[in-house]
Amino acid sequence: MSAPLKMDVITIFPGMLSGFLGESMIKRAMQAGLVDLNPVDLRDFTHDTHRTTDDRPYGGGPGMVMKPEPIFEAVAAVKTTAARVILMSPQGRPFSQALARELAQERHLVFICGHYEGVDERVREALVTDEISIGDYVLTNGVLPAAVVIDAVTRLIPGVLGHDQSAQDESFADGLLEYPQYTRPPVYDGRSVPDVLLSGDHGAVETWRRQQARERTRRWRPDLLKE
Ligand code: SAM
Repeated sequence: MSAPLKMDVITIFPGMLSGFLGESMIKRAMQAGLVDLNPVDLRDFTHDTHRTTDDRPYGGGPGMVMKPEPIFEAVAAVKTTAARVILMSPQGRPFSQALARELAQERHLVFICGHYEGVDERVREALVTDEISIGDYVLTNGVLPAAVVIDAVTRLIPGVLGHDQSAQDESFADGLLEYPQYTRPPVYDGRSVPDVLLSGDHGAVETWRRQQARERTRRWRPDLLKE
C-alpha cells in the first residue's frame, strides 16, 4: 500500500477540526491509513506569555493581521520537500473538482488557515505554493474552507469510497451535473420511478442518464457546457 496522503492544518482553532476528524469518511480513511491528517496549533509557535498570533495592520485600518513569525515557524516544523503549502483565501484560485483531483495525487498538503483580516503578505510571498478560495464570499476563518478541500480530496483517494466508480460517475467528473437518482419504492406519493430504470436494459439506462445529465446541466449550469 502507498504512503498515506499527509495533510497538516495550521490554525489557531485546531478544535474546530475535531468533529470533522472523528466522523464518517475522514475517520475511516485515517483508520485505514489512507490519509494522515493533523491539526497544528499555531499558538504552539509563539514565544510570548499571551501566545500572540496577530497585530495591528501597518498603515491603519480595521481589524488585526496574522503575524508572520508563528506561521513561518509552523510551516518550517511540518514542511517536507514534497509539500504543497496552501493558503486558504477568498482571493485564491477557485476550488473545483479538477483541482481536488490534482491535489489527491500529492503526498503532502500543508494548509494555512487565516483569521481576522488575513495573513501578513510575506507569508504569501515566501511560503505559499497555492492559494485556494472555496467561493466568492468571506468566512471568518480558514478552517471550514480547508475542511471543504480536505473532504473533496480525501474521497478521491483510491480505497476511501466504498465503490471507487462513485468518484468517476458524479457531478463535474465529466463536465456535467449528475443524472437524477431513484431508489425503492417504485411509486411514492403518486410519483413513479421512470420506466427505463426498471427495464433492466443497461444500454437504455445509460442513454437516459446521459440525456438527463445534459438536460439538467443545460438548465442549471449552462456555463459548464460552454467550458
Ligand atoms: N480580509 C480578507 C480579504 O478581504 O480578502 C478576508 C479575511 S477572512 C475574514 C479570514 C480568513 O478566512 C482568510 O484569511 C481565509 O483563510 C479564510 N477565508 C474566508 N473566506 C474564504 C474563502 N471564500 N475561501 C477560502 N478561505 C476563506
